[in-house]
This record gives sequence, C-alpha cells and structure tokens, in this order.
Amino acid sequence: MSAAVLSQARRIVVKVGSSLVTNEGRGLDRAAVTAWAEQIAHLRGLGREVVLVSSGAVAEGVARLGWSRRPHHMHKLQAAAAVGQMGLAQAYESAFAAHQIRTAQVLLTHEDLAHRQRYLNARSTLFTLLQLGVVPIVNENDTVSTDEIRFGDNDTLGALVTNLIEADVLVILTDQRGLYREDPRRNPNAEFVHEATAGDPELEAMAGGAGSAIGTGGMYTKILAAKRAAGSGAHTIIASGREPELLRRLAQGEAIGTTLYARLPGWSARKQWLLDHIRLRGHVVLDDGAVRALVQEGKSLLPIGVVDVFGDFERGDVVACRDAAGNEWARGLINYSASDTRRILRQPSHRIGDILGTANEPELMHRDNLAVLRTA
Ligand code: GLU
Repeated sequence: MSAAVLSQARRIVVKVGSSLVTNEGRGLDRAAVTAWAEQIAHLRGLGREVVLVSSGAVAEGVARLGWSRRPHHMHKLQAAAAVGQMGLAQAYESAFAAHQIRTAQVLLTHEDLAHRQRYLNARSTLFTLLQLGVVPIVNENDTVSTDEIRFGDNDTLGALVTNLIEADVLVILTDQRGLYREDPRRNPNAEFVHEATAGDPELEAMAGGAGSAIGTGGMYTKILAAKRAAGSGAHTIIASGREPELLRRLAQGEAIGTTLYARLPGWSARKQWLLDHIRLRGHVVLDDGAVRALVQEGKSLLPIGVVDVFGDFERGDVVACRDAAGNEWARGLINYSASDTRRILRQPSHRIGDILGTANEPELMHRDNLAVLRTA
C-alpha cells in the first residue's frame, strides 16, 4: 500500500483538535489558524474539496469568559462553547478571507446524521457549499448536544462527516506525532506506528485511555474514528498539526504521521453499508430505460424513469427499484417521499419545482446512494 493517500484524494475532511486551535487552552492560536487556512487554500488550488471540522469552542469560551480552567458542569461547558464558537468562526473567516475563500459555519449533532432526512439535508448543503467554492467549518452543536464535549473532541464527528460526504481521506490533526504502540510519555522508546489497517482490534488495545488535559479526545477516539471513516472507504491520517506545512507535504506524497487504511475502497464499503442497513420501506417500478441507465450505465435514478410507486416512505428511506416484471435491480436512499414521488413520476427533473413547490435534488436516487444488486 502506498502512504501517499492524500496526494490521490479528491475530497478531504481535516479535523483539528482543541489543544491545537487554542494553543493548549490559552486562547485562539491565530498563527496556527492562519497556517491551516493557507494550506487548505493550497489544496483547494489543486482542485481538492476540503471540509474543516474544528473543535476549540469550549476552550476558547473558557478563555473569553476569563475562567482559569475548564468547568465540570455540562451547562457551563455548553455555555462556554456558545461563547467560544463566535471566536472560532471569526478566526477562520478572516484567515480564509486572506485567500479570497468564503467559509460557512455548520453545526451538527450525531442525531442529525442518524436521522435520514436531516442526513440528506446536511449532505446536500455541504455538497452545495463545496460546489460554491466555500470551505465549510463544522463543529458539534454544543448547545443541544454533549457527545463530543464528553467523549470525543469532534473525532467521531469528523468521521461522521467523512461518511456523510464520502470523503476519500480524514486527516486528524492533533498535538501528537501520531500513534505509538505504547504511551510515549511513559515510555520514550515506544515504537511509532507509521501505517496499519483501520479497524484492526490491536489498535484499540494500544490506544486505550490516552488523552490530553484540554480537549476530550485521546488516541482511542481517533482509532475509533478511523474505523468509522473506513466504513465509507476513507483512509485516516493522524498527524501533528504543529508539523510545518503538514497538509501541503501530505498532498505532495510525503508520509507523515500514522496512516490507517480502509480495507474496502469507498464504493464497495458504501454499497455494503446500504445493503446491511436496510429496512425496505417500499419500492418504485422503473421503465426499461431506467433499469438500463442504473444497471449498465451506472447512472442515477430520475423521476422520468419511474412508472409506479408502492409503499409509504419518507425522504431518506431505503427503497427498492424493480422492473415491471417485479425483479429487483437496485436499492438506494430516496430523495422524495412516496407521496411526492407519485406526483413527479414520469416527469422530467426540471418540472419537480413546479409540481411540488420546492425542488430538492434533480435525482430520485443519486447514484452515490444506490447499490445495484445484479447485472443484466
Ligand atoms: N465541540 C467541542 C468544542 O469545539 C468539543 C471539544 C471539547 O470538548 O473541548 O469545543
């Protein structure tokens, strides 16, 4: 396997942890933020799409409120996050503006991503932002959710966003060089792990319990994040955010930090996920042209190719695609509810807006969300 996963990546999620963004909790490290913005602008210049997942709201809030240390009460941590998020957004906005790049603030919870409709909405919004050339800056919505404050420092969120947008690589920037076989603070001769397979149970045993004082994410949550990212076929790189020109060098093919490889390539992993996670809520009947487009040409399903709808499903449900004889050809996440699908079937996509009042996606099922079950 080649270590140069970032040099081949088209879509990248970069996750930065609290201790980096806030200089071990001493307030925002503007020089570091400026350097990442510069490197991400460089990646964008190479035609890569980048989503930044940044922690640091709690730590920055603690600094802005003049508190001497991170409080224990959850509501105080959440209040700090609300204060600090303003600082984060401000810092990224101005750092990227220097490169004529707009940023967008996207606050998400794990529930948002588990909920099918919200999942599709978040996905479409992020794709739209990327198409517009904007760099989305994602954090947990700490006012309503406490998952990352408690356990993860956004490591899990980084992986969920990687799954959501089918990124090729998740880069986790931290204050350590990467993964060691033992805790390097206890054993200075601990062996460094340059590469391994994401999801290898040995990694979880190695990383158990490590953590720094300011954020909540030790290596353990990073290992789990890599496993989760591998679920949609993404490789993970864990590396030090203090390494000069890290992203630029990774993009040039240099091997830095720990690379955790996904065993299955993106598409097979995603197809597996679709086939494993399904509770079919109905099916649509396709005309022959649509069956051919899906099965032989690898295209999306458009409303014009659908002749009938069975079942009662919502946007985001998994629905089967059958031909007129009842043979099932594919399954996928549907972008319109059963009642909306009934209204737009046999219609060209440009009419969706007129018929329904609003148009989401032009496809009924996007090919990225579709698993073909057999060949013709
Ligand atoms: N979402 C939180 C933040 O950005 C998580 C990090 C933490 O617990 O410090 O601050």
